[in-house]
Amino acid sequence: MSTNKLNKIPMVDLQEELNLLRKPILEMLIEVLDSGEYILGEKGEKLEKLVAQYVGASFALGVANGTDALLLSLQALDIGPGDEVITTPFTFIATGEAIVQAGARPVFVDIEEDTYNIDPSKIEEAITPHTKAIMVVHLYGKAANMREIMKIAKNNNLRVIEDACQAIGTQYNGKRVGAIGDIGCFSFFPSKNLGAFGDAGLITTNQKEVYERIYKLRNHGSEAKYHHSLIGMNSRLDEFQAAILLVKLYYLDIFLHKRKEVAKRYTEQLTSFLKTPSIPKNREHTFHQYCIELDKRDDLAAKLKGNDIASAIYYPIPLHLQKAFKYLRYKEGDFPIAEKAAARVLALPIFPMLSYQKQDHIISTIKDFLKDAP
Ligand SMILES: *Cc1c(COP(=O)(O)O)cnc(C)c1O
Repeated sequence: MSTNKLNKIPMVDLQEELNLLRKPILEMLIEVLDSGEYILGEKGEKLEKLVAQYVGASFALGVANGTDALLLSLQALDIGPGDEVITTPFTFIATGEAIVQAGARPVFVDIEEDTYNIDPSKIEEAITPHTKAIMVVHLYGKAANMREIMKIAKNNNLRVIEDACQAIGTQYNGKRVGAIGDIGCFSFFPSKNLGAFGDAGLITTNQKEVYERIYKLRNHGSEAKYHHSLIGMNSRLDEFQAAILLVKLYYLDIFLHKRKEVAKRYTEQLTSFLKTPSIPKNREHTFHQYCIELDKRDDLAAKLKGNDIASAIYYPIPLHLQKAFKYLRYKEGDFPIAEKAAARVLALPIFPMLSYQKQDHIISTIKDFLKDAP
């Protein structure tokens, strides 16, 4: 490895986390290897139990990834062809993709300028007789305005699915996200706040019928081997990934705390120069991403790159302007707040093991840039 590479600051450094946890993880992996049980086994069941407890939900189900968690949730609620699902255009593609894969139609609603999450005040005008659910995203790890969203859902007889893929552990009014709506969906993609070393996901719910349906759907619609009461799919949790997640879950709160500390340092140093993340009252932010906003976003990204500092744009194109969703016939200008955010946000490196020394280098590089920028 060149010294150059060593000095680079990546968006997320999983290697340092692995160095810390290598021993317990290897011990767990050997246990799985020797157990002869590799899919939907004891480790997965333990993980389900512990994550359900952690999130504060009655039930949890391990699945293959976060995207499947969203799809299975829609299927569990019997949402499909002819149905509409309201969601945000400012999210990862998987949110909208799952709605289409379920056979339903995504209906986008613009976001709040300060939180980047769906704007509850604009939801009601998007409701039609076909609307079945709201798919809320807690973007970047910041809780959406669940109080208003749940109120609207109740008044209009809609279900609520929380895409909490970026927000495990995030509290909202003393509750954790994923346990507030009908169903919560989590991703354990390696770079997420709780990451496996491969694909994995999980669903939480307080409703027994939903739990029982997803229990079957994730495993070919079967409750007992070779007896199939539903058309399901293969979306099961792998025991190796569950084992890794069990080790990492133990450290999750410490890691989330570290993320919040890093975020606090960024905000203290940068907030008088550019837009830093807001944290509304009663809504926690666990900083899966730390996004700043500025006019000369692309110039700053280039400057950071020149100084061996990574940065990233989540997300450069809102869903309604993605080619894949062209058939929905949205156009530029339909969701101005989401479009403005897509043109201006820049995510800075953030991970629990980011040293103050490295962070100070990032901050001073940004300050240098702002000094030179006219
Ligand atoms: C990561 C992510 C997903 C998808 O999770 P996978 O495990 O990669 O399938 C869905 N929604 C959001 C908001 C995400 O960040």
